Amino acid sequence: MKLVLGLDGLDYNLVKRFDCSCLMQKQFGEYAVPINPSKGVPLSPEVWASVLSGTMVEGGSLEFVVDSPLVQKWGSKLTNLLVRVRRHIPLSLGLGRKVSRVHGYPPCSLPFWLDAPDWFKLNVPFRDYDERIFQLAAEWNQGLTNYDRFIERVGDLFWQRKIQVMDAVPTMKGFSKAFVYLDFPDSLQHAFGSSLQQFQSHYEELNQFVTRFLSLLKPETCLILSDHGFDLEKQTHSNFGFYSCTESVSLKDASDVAKIVASWR
Ligand SMILES: [Zn+2]
Repeated sequence: MKLVLGLDGLDYNLVKRFDCSCLMQKQFGEYAVPINPSKGVPLSPEVWASVLSGTMVEGGSLEFVVDSPLVQKWGSKLTNLLVRVRRHIPLSLGLGRKVSRVHGYPPCSLPFWLDAPDWFKLNVPFRDYDERIFQLAAEWNQGLTNYDRFIERVGDLFWQRKIQVMDAVPTMKGFSKAFVYLDFPDSLQHAFGSSLQQFQSHYEELNQFVTRFLSLLKPETCLILSDHGFDLEKQTHSNFGFYSCTESVSLKDASDVAKIVASWR
């Protein structure tokens, strides 16, 4: 069977820096993704929609569904004050320093290649993704949880995600193709700040998990994809997606993924 493993926010430079051997398969590198014009960085919905549909979705056309009650009611003065008062206000998963609540992925009417019945799907954006991370991020943004508790809860979610993926291995083996998505490392990268140690442990843990997952599943082809990376200095998304494949592939931009999987029989 053939596998596409989506790891949200996995950064090319950090994979190399932390020597994540399992994530660096036969061929790996960066590929071009749509850039959101107002944020100046790639946003997950626009990139994943491009990857899954094979059409480069224009930046600015498919953003997260956001509700900013505080911003709407009192404008940016209060937001700026809150940002100054509370350290560790997260970047709201790439949305900038706003006190806003992300509800999740918007609807997308584009047909996706993984809608064919021979694809097994696990937690795929726009399809069966549970969006639990947005609830956790909203609680932290609103000051309902502190930083340590937030990190702990996201860590629990990561743990549950890993179990969910491992439990699905026998079912996956009954399909010829599978797309498995994890909202990591992005979910944690926005909260780590400049702590390189936290980045390193998380990347090493991801690398270990993927090693175990692949040794159980034994796919004949594995394509690992991220939608964007993470710029440690700017503390926001970096402008390229990461790919890594067990075979030689031609992947210049997000729309090429559809051509690669179309060649899979
Ligand atoms: Zn993302």
